[in-house]
Amino acid sequence: MSEKTCAVCDYPLDGNAVEVTIGGNTVEVCCEECAQKLREAEARR
Ligand SMILES: [Zn+2]
Repeated sequence: MSEKTCAVCDYPLDGNAVEVTIGGNTVEVCCEECAQKLREAEARR
């Protein structure tokens, strides 16, 4: 069993997890809103 949490807000992921590929890494977030935040944070680096 793998416990996954949102990479943005640490909310436990369920079936609604969204996969985001950032710099070759795939991370999972809880919703599209968090996915967007992640993309923005990476773009800002
Ligand atoms: Zn989240």
